[in-house]
Amino acid sequence: MYRTHTCGELKQSDINKEVTLSGWVQKIRNLGAMTFIDIRDRYGITQLFFDKETNPKLTKRTEELGREFVIRVEGKVTERSSKNTDMPTGDIEITVTEFKILSKSEIPPFTIEDNTDGGEEIRLKYRYLDLRRNTVQKGIILRHRMAQEVRKYLNEQDFLEIETPFLIKSTPEGARDFVVPSRMSEGKFYALPQSPQVFKQLLMISGYDKYFQLIKCFRDEDFRADRQPEFTQLDCEMSFVEREDILTLFEGLAKHLFSVIKGKSFTEQFPRITYDDALNIYGSDRPDIRFEIKITDLSEIVKGNGFNVFDNAEFTGGICAEGLSGYSRKQTDELIKWVQRPQIGAKGLVFAKYNEDGTFKSSVDKFYSQEALKKWADAMNAKPGDLMLLMSGNKKQILIALGELRLEMGNRLDLRNDNEFAPLWIVDFPLFEKDEETGQMHAVHHPFTSPKKDHINSLDSDPENIKAEAYDLVINGNEIGGGSIRIHETELQKKMFRILGFTDEEAKAQFGFLMDAFKYGAPPHGGIAFGFDRWVALFNGSDSIRDVIAFPKNNAGRDIMIDAPASVDDQQLKDLNLKIIKKG
Ligand code: ASP
Repeated sequence: MYRTHTCGELKQSDINKEVTLSGWVQKIRNLGAMTFIDIRDRYGITQLFFDKETNPKLTKRTEELGREFVIRVEGKVTERSSKNTDMPTGDIEITVTEFKILSKSEIPPFTIEDNTDGGEEIRLKYRYLDLRRNTVQKGIILRHRMAQEVRKYLNEQDFLEIETPFLIKSTPEGARDFVVPSRMSEGKFYALPQSPQVFKQLLMISGYDKYFQLIKCFRDEDFRADRQPEFTQLDCEMSFVEREDILTLFEGLAKHLFSVIKGKSFTEQFPRITYDDALNIYGSDRPDIRFEIKITDLSEIVKGNGFNVFDNAEFTGGICAEGLSGYSRKQTDELIKWVQRPQIGAKGLVFAKYNEDGTFKSSVDKFYSQEALKKWADAMNAKPGDLMLLMSGNKKQILIALGELRLEMGNRLDLRNDNEFAPLWIVDFPLFEKDEETGQMHAVHHPFTSPKKDHINSLDSDPENIKAEAYDLVINGNEIGGGSIRIHETELQKKMFRILGFTDEEAKAQFGFLMDAFKYGAPPHGGIAFGFDRWVALFNGSDSIRDVIAFPKNNAGRDIMIDAPASVDDQQLKDLNLKIIKKG
C-alpha cells in the first residue's frame, strides 16, 4: 500500500497511529542529530522526523534524498515539540521507521515554492513542475470547484449539457478561424469553432430549450495581452425567453458562485446600465464600478474663454481625483505623459487643482479665472483638496481615454480592492458598428443578435442608431459574459445579412443550414456565453488567465512545453495534399 493518508490530513487526534504516506520531498533539514523532511502532495505538507540516535541507519539513508524525489514512508504520528500553527498538519510529525525511494528527481529548474525563483517562460516550459506549486494548484482546484458549481446550478434549473463538434465550418464571431485540413476531402478544411453559436441555436430549433456546455473555443487573433488562442466558455442558450428571463437566471448563477466560492452574498439586483450611459459616465463598456469617479461633460462650461483647444473641441470631459490637489509638477507632468502613451493616445491633459484654501491653480490659468474654475468644480462635484483632470477632442475617443485615466486614478487612489466585487449588466448595445474607412456595417455582437423590437423599423433608415437586445455581465472592469436575444425569423435574419454586406449567395453558403432550419419552426430564443477562464482568474485574484489554465500557451500563442505549433513531416503533407510555400 502506498498510503494510508494524504500529506494534508494528519492532526493531533491521529497521534500514535501507524501511517504510510507517499509524496514528493519538499525540503530537507539535516541538523546533525536529527533530520527533518517535508513531504508534499496536493493535499498538503507533513513533516517527517528521523532521529539519528534511535535509528542511525535510516537517518543516514536520508542523505540519498533530494528535492522532488518521490518517497513512501512508514512511521508513527507523534506530537511536535515546536508546533507550526500556520500549517494544518503543524501539530504533528511522522517519526519515520522505514522509507523507500519510489522515484528519483533531478534538481528542478526552479524551486517548487509559492515564491519561486523561476520566471514565467521557464515555468511554462516545465509546466508539469509549475503545476506542483501550491499557488498554481489553488487556481486549478478553484477552476474545478467553479465548474462543479456551474453544473450543479444549471442542472437544478433543468439545463442539459450537450456537446457540439469541433471540426466544423466558420462561425460568426468575427475573429480569424483556426483551420484543419481534411485528408479525405482533398483541398477542403474544417474550421475550429470560435464558439458553438450556431449549434446552440440549432439545438433550440430541435427543442432542447435549456442548453449549456463548458467548451473550448478557438480564435486565431493577434495576441493581445492575456488572450489565449483556445479558451473555455460557459456557453448557454434558452428558448421561449425574453431578455429579462436570461438576465434573471444568469444573475442567479453569478450570485450562486459569489456565495459558494467567495462567501459573498448579493441580495440586491445587479445594477443595469445602458451601453450609452456606460460610455458617457465611465468611458468604457465594461466599467469598474467598485469606485465612484465619474466622467463629467464639460463641453459647454469650458467654452468662450479664449482657450482654442476647448473652444473648438467636439467634446471636453473631466474626472475628479479626490484629495490629489497636492500633486507636484513632476506628478502632473508624468500624468500628461501617461495619457499621451499610444495605448491612450490623448493629445494632452489639462488639470486644475482645487486647493485646500478654496483657491484654484490650473494649467490654463491664462484663460480661466478663479470663478470660471469654480464652475468646473461645481459641475464635477469637486471639493477643496481635489484634482480635476480634463481632456478634449473627438467625443468617443476622449470618453475612452478618460475611462482609462479613471482606472489609473482608481489604482493610484487604491480604490480597486481585490476582495471587493462589483457586478453589473450592460444592456442595449448598438447593433452595428460602422467601419470608418469602408462605411461597411459590422455586427457589434454577431449577425444573429436581434435588434430591440421598437428599433426594427429603422433597420434600413438609421442602422447606426439601432440598439440590440444584447447584454454583457461585467465584474470589476472585466467582461465576464455576453449574449443576446436572437433573431428567429428568416426574413429579418436575411435582412441582417444584407446590411452586413453578405450577398444572398454568401449568406446561404455560410449559414444556409441555419436559415433552412428556421423554416421548420424556430422558437424565440436567446443566450449568453461566459469567459470561464476570466471568471476563474477573477475569483482567484489572478491578473492572467494563464494562472488558471493547466497547460496554457505563452503570449505568442506557443506551447513551449510540447513545442507547438511545429512542422509536420513530408508524408503528412502529402497525405493532406498540402505544400508549404515559404514567404519571401
Ligand atoms: N457566441 C457568443 C460569443 O461567443 C455569445 C452568445 O451570444 O451567446 O461571444
